[in-house]
Amino acid sequence: MEDTIYAPSSAIGGAIAIVRISGADAERVNTLLDRDPTKRPRELTHTRLIYRGELVDECMAVYFPAPGSYTGEHMMELNVHGGMQTVQRVLAALASLGFRPAECGEFTKRAFLNGKMDLSAAEAVMDVINADAEQSLKSALAQLQGSVKREISSVEDLLTDALSGIDAAIDYPDEAEADTLEALPESLTAAIARIDAMIALARRGRVLRDGLQVAIVGRPNVGKSSLMNAMLGNDRAIVTATAGTTRDIIDEKLSMDGVPVRLIDTAGIREAHDEAEKIGVDRARDAFRRADVVCLVLDASVSMTEQDETLLQETQDSTRIVVLNKSDLPQKTEYAGAAIRVSAKTGGGLRELQDAILALAAPERADGSTITNERHIRALELALTALRDATTADELDCAATDVKNALHYLGSITGTDVDASVIDRIFERFCVGK
Ligand code: GDP
Repeated sequence: MEDTIYAPSSAIGGAIAIVRISGADAERVNTLLDRDPTKRPRELTHTRLIYRGELVDECMAVYFPAPGSYTGEHMMELNVHGGMQTVQRVLAALASLGFRPAECGEFTKRAFLNGKMDLSAAEAVMDVINADAEQSLKSALAQLQGSVKREISSVEDLLTDALSGIDAAIDYPDEAEADTLEALPESLTAAIARIDAMIALARRGRVLRDGLQVAIVGRPNVGKSSLMNAMLGNDRAIVTATAGTTRDIIDEKLSMDGVPVRLIDTAGIREAHDEAEKIGVDRARDAFRRADVVCLVLDASVSMTEQDETLLQETQDSTRIVVLNKSDLPQKTEYAGAAIRVSAKTGGGLRELQDAILALAAPERADGSTITNERHIRALELALTALRDATTADELDCAATDVKNALHYLGSITGTDVDASVIDRIFERFCVGK
């Protein structure tokens, strides 16, 4: 049997503190009260809390019998006065009943384990609490209402259908329309399209939650750090005149006309000579591959180098803005494509650059998405890869395994198929009392 747990659920310092108790023995709180709230479940009872013969507080108590409570267990909630002294004495009284303090997120974890909510909804609880923009709050609330679960379930239905089609073709090859993979059920293609669309939407939603990722890329000394500082309006990144000094990735957040933006200054990408630099270079490449917008900086005051050419090529498939920096100096670059001219030194052209970045981001701002959680997006991507494998598998057996794998990844989102360690990691990040 699970322990009975307790925790203050409200922030310290308010006039009233809410203390929650959950578990099989929750009704034993009665022994501390002079009126019995279990007689009138779900109704606030005005009572006094007495511990070791002393009055601790005059309070309100409410009892929620299992399973009709937040956690699905018997729960008691006490509204006591919010002072530290009071709350601490109430907690001491609860400890004397053999209850233990709740761990971070333990109430919500129990709610999930008792089937009161799916894992994606449980995760949304923290998103609701932490939401700092209106759109983020809307999508977190929708997720709390089960929007992610609904979307995932509909794809799971398609895949279950696909799987039975594949299984039938394996068991009765003669009756199947064909035993080749061209005969893959339509539901499989439909599921792939759905997941694809969900990932695309999720990426847009993520911008609102985590910010638009803008990578600043260029060979050493073109002025990346200076540019980043100019955009941030301070001296966060260290600027030096020696090539290759920004060794690691610097990541800074700012708000551009209300859109959260994360600026990523990548290490000067060039042939690495030592290990530390190589790691920086690899991370830089990784950063600009994942970025929403890549600003490729060229030094317009000098001729193009081979490295500039390489970078132009490497970033050509990215959503890219070519930035011609050092426009305050005599211009020597041969670059003739579309570009924005700026001077990190004088600040010239920075407004145009910001507008260009926002213009690229604008479609991303258009609407929110149900799926914004990075863990969910990752699971969707794994499911998508598994399903693409299914469509190219040589054998129906392999295709069936791929579809099962995809179902496993989808199950990890809603929690129907998830390791205990993953669950622990999710709830560890919660606050106490939630
Ligand atoms: P990074 O290696 O690409 O990060 O380049 P830095 O930001 O460290 O700049 C390299 C050098 O170019 C420094 O001496 C800067 O002061 C200089 N620099 C950067 N931007 C400009 C600019 O717009 N105009 C001029 N004249 N010099 C610049």
